[in-house]
Amino acid sequence: ALRKLVAGNWKMNGSRAQLSELDAIAAAAVDHMHVDVAICPPFTLIAPAAERQPGLAIGAQDCHAAPSGAHTGCVSAAMVAEAGARLAIVGHSERRTDNHETDAEIRAKAEAAIGAGLTAIVCVGETEAERDAGHALLVVEGQLEGSIPPAGTGETLVVAYEPVWAIGTGRTPSVADVAEMHAAIRARLVSLLGGEGEKVRILYGGSVKPSNAAELLGVKDVDGALVGGASLKAADFVPIIAAAR
Ligand code: 13P
Repeated sequence: ALRKLVAGNWKMNGSRAQLSELDAIAAAAVDHMHVDVAICPPFTLIAPAAERQPGLAIGAQDCHAAPSGAHTGCVSAAMVAEAGARLAIVGHSERRTDNHETDAEIRAKAEAAIGAGLTAIVCVGETEAERDAGHALLVVEGQLEGSIPPAGTGETLVVAYEPVWAIGTGRTPSVADVAEMHAAIRARLVSLLGGEGEKVRILYGGSVKPSNAAELLGVKDVDGALVGGASLKAADFVPIIAAAR
C-alpha cells in the first residue's frame, strides 16, 4: 500500500487567529509519522502557516498556469512555493464551477505546480446528475484523460476523487462505489502514466469526518483523504489523521 496523505482544504475560511489550530495538527503529524499531513489555507495564510509550523506541509488551493504576467488577481505556482507551499490543489470542483476551469487549464496548472517544485493534487469527480445517469466512471475517466500531466509521478502528482454531490452535504458514496471508482482511477492512471500510475496516491474527498474516516480510508486504492469542513478544527482533523494507517 502507498503511504497515505491526509490533506485539509480550508477553502475560503480561516484567519491568522485560526492558525493556532495548526499546532495540534502538526503535533498529530509527528505522532503519526507513517502518514503525510497537509493543510491548504487561503493564499494569504500560506506564509504565516508555514512560518508557524515549518514541519507541517502547507499547500495552496489553486495556482495560475503561467509563471508571471498580466493576470490581475492571480498567483503563480512559484509565488506559492516561495511563500512556503509544498503542494497545490488544482481543478477543485468549486473552481471548475465558479471559475469555469477546463480540463486543459487544470492540466496546465498541474504542470506549472510540478515545474515549481510542488506536488499537484488534481481533483476529479462527477455531479449527482451524472451519477444518476450512470455516467460517473465515464465522466471521471474523461477528466483524468484531460487533466493529468503526462510527466506526473508518484512524487509530484496526487489525484483526489471528490464526488460533487458529497462535498459539504454529509452524504458519501457507499464503500462499494468508492472501491469501484478508485479501481477505475488506478487503471486509468496506469494507462496514462505507465508504472508511475501505480505510485500516484488517490485521495477520497467529500464529507470525510471522524466517524466515517476509518471506513473510507480502509477501502482499497484509497490512499488518503482530502478534507474540507472537518479540517478547520484540530479536534475534527486529528482523529481523521489517526484513522489513516
Ligand atoms: P467537505 O469535507 O467539507 O465535504 O469538503 C470536501 C472538499 O471539497 C475538499 O476539497
